[in-house]
Amino acid sequence: MPMNIAIDGPAGAGKSTAARMVAEKFGYIYVDTGAMYRAMALYMLREEIDPADQGAVEAACEKADISLEYKDGVQQVLLNGENVTAEIRTPEVSRASSAVSAYGAVRAKLVELQRKLAGRRDVVMDGRDIGTAVLPNADLKVYLTASAHVRALRRFKELPAGQAGVSLDEVEAEITARDKQDMEREISPLKRAEDAVLLDTSDMSLEEAVRELEELVEDAGSRGCCGC
Ligand code: C5P
Repeated sequence: MPMNIAIDGPAGAGKSTAARMVAEKFGYIYVDTGAMYRAMALYMLREEIDPADQGAVEAACEKADISLEYKDGVQQVLLNGENVTAEIRTPEVSRASSAVSAYGAVRAKLVELQRKLAGRRDVVMDGRDIGTAVLPNADLKVYLTASAHVRALRRFKELPAGQAGVSLDEVEAEITARDKQDMEREISPLKRAEDAVLLDTSDMSLEEAVRELEELVEDAGSRGCCGC
């Protein structure tokens, strides 16, 4: 059975950076499920479908073929065969991804893809519902979080050049609004799975968070081992 590590948490908690580093250390693949919802949102925006229009989004989502590829170990997201890894990182796509991810047909399609990946390979998968819905039997579940202010500050420091005019307050407002929407939706809302380890990184450096995660993965690996 492949090892499945589930990492969930709110926006900007540092999940993707930490998950990627841990995956690399253990030779697992890193699956950023948020990128799949972002690709779906990009499809809707390009087709001029209003992300708030559930019927239209659900009808169109079948036409968006989303897949992942790895180039030099880095996840690439393909939308109908086109590499959209860079295009999905805009504030507009962030907002739209939170809207489209609330719809059942979108989630059903992407969760199926996520489970297929985790069934075949050792994965570190990050998202919002990995421990609660996608991989309820994961070998390790972690809920990675930090205060909204710390998360906003981290995001702010990493803003790409194209978003240079955005203020810290705007970043904090954006992630707070997105978390609220993700936590209050009906299907698979963001919440800590009962059996998830809580890791609050508000007062931790990235290196400290990664070290904690690595220890948790090592423990999970030895629990899952036959004792050989
Ligand atoms: O992780 P990231 O911020 O890129 O995710 C973008 C959006 O995709 C989230 O705000 C959330 O609405 C949605 N998402 C989700 N379930 C996941 C991963 C992401 O609903 N497993």
